[in-house]
Amino acid sequence: MKINTKRLHENIQRYAQIGNVGEIGVERIALSDEDKAARDLLKSQMLQAGLEVHVDEVGNMIGLRKGKKDVPAVAIGSHLDTVYQGGRYDGALGVLAGLEVIETLDDQSIETEKPIALINFTNEEGVNYAPDMMGSHAFAQLGDLNEILSSLSYDDPTKTVDSELRRIGYKGEMKCGAFGVDSFLELHIEQGPVLELEEIDIGAVEMVQGIFWTRYKITGQANHAGTTPIHLRKDAGYAASEAVKFIGDLSRKEGTKLLTTVGTIAFEPNAINIVPQTATFTVDARCVDAEVLKQSQNEIDEFIEDMVKKHGLRLEREEMVRFDPVQLDVRVAGLIEKEAKNLNLSVKRMPSGAGHDAQMMASICPTAMIFVPSVNGISHNINEYTKDLDVENGANVLLNAALTLTKA
Ligand SMILES: [Zn+2]
Repeated sequence: MKINTKRLHENIQRYAQIGNVGEIGVERIALSDEDKAARDLLKSQMLQAGLEVHVDEVGNMIGLRKGKKDVPAVAIGSHLDTVYQGGRYDGALGVLAGLEVIETLDDQSIETEKPIALINFTNEEGVNYAPDMMGSHAFAQLGDLNEILSSLSYDDPTKTVDSELRRIGYKGEMKCGAFGVDSFLELHIEQGPVLELEEIDIGAVEMVQGIFWTRYKITGQANHAGTTPIHLRKDAGYAASEAVKFIGDLSRKEGTKLLTTVGTIAFEPNAINIVPQTATFTVDARCVDAEVLKQSQNEIDEFIEDMVKKHGLRLEREEMVRFDPVQLDVRVAGLIEKEAKNLNLSVKRMPSGAGHDAQMMASICPTAMIFVPSVNGISHNINEYTKDLDVENGANVLLNAALTLTKA
């Protein structure tokens, strides 16, 4: 079965006008007037599609399309909020493709066995209120609800999540956790370069892999390669090489799932006959196991600090990226893979590098994600773009995977 591509693109275009920036960018900060406008539009479309609309205590919007059976719903969705100077696809794609799935089922007069629910989660981005993934966090009952509701605006500390939900009319009645979900699917742009580089249509996301990126800069002293005795050198290059070996060896231990990479290194002044003054290098470490990942970061830090001290050098350290791993449902990811193949699309199983509402939902029901390529891997940027055909492919996989889940 296929979605109505014209209707989906028109709808994406329509939402992109709410908080539009430049030609294709969008700025729709959670709980702002723009967020309210997008929510109002979604609510009217949900009602028009005959959905039963619920809003919960943190403002998550849930549109229920009843099935033949009165059982927990197959849930699909994402978020309508964006970062400052963001794009039109991050989040909105998952919500609007979800709406398109429901409208397609209506067009075909299909009554599913299990119900389907479309969810728009509150404040996924966490731009103006902490924590990020707020709505899904509360939906899965993972945090302290009062703490979440009293979270202060960074912009204006007289405002709280609760006060702003009331202001925009989305402080709902439904208790968080009261809505039963059978499973959850989130269609999202990849926000990375892998699918585009490998020319693959669909990512079947089975886990959110943990990752950290750290940059180290070791500083010594530049000096003459012929006249400076070894015991008087402050050689940043020699020290960096010890670090590179240590970091690489961590992932070469037998049985470890850790992956470590020193992918960049730069010496200054980088001349054949000068002892390096500085060596700057980056560490990319990834693992499916949060403990192993954390431990490796500590080991690397300790080793480099000791080693730099031993050589009488200076160290600067910058944490660039950090995400803990989350396992999604391998069976649901397998279903996504199968449905993509049925549609003659190329597909690969992959981890997500960024955090998503799906990782919160994974704690309460079988969950997986569908990724579509991001042009140049760019997101959280007004130049974020995903090609129309990729949008359509993702929505079609979402439709067929959701439909199969309603039968299971
Ligand atoms: Zn997102």
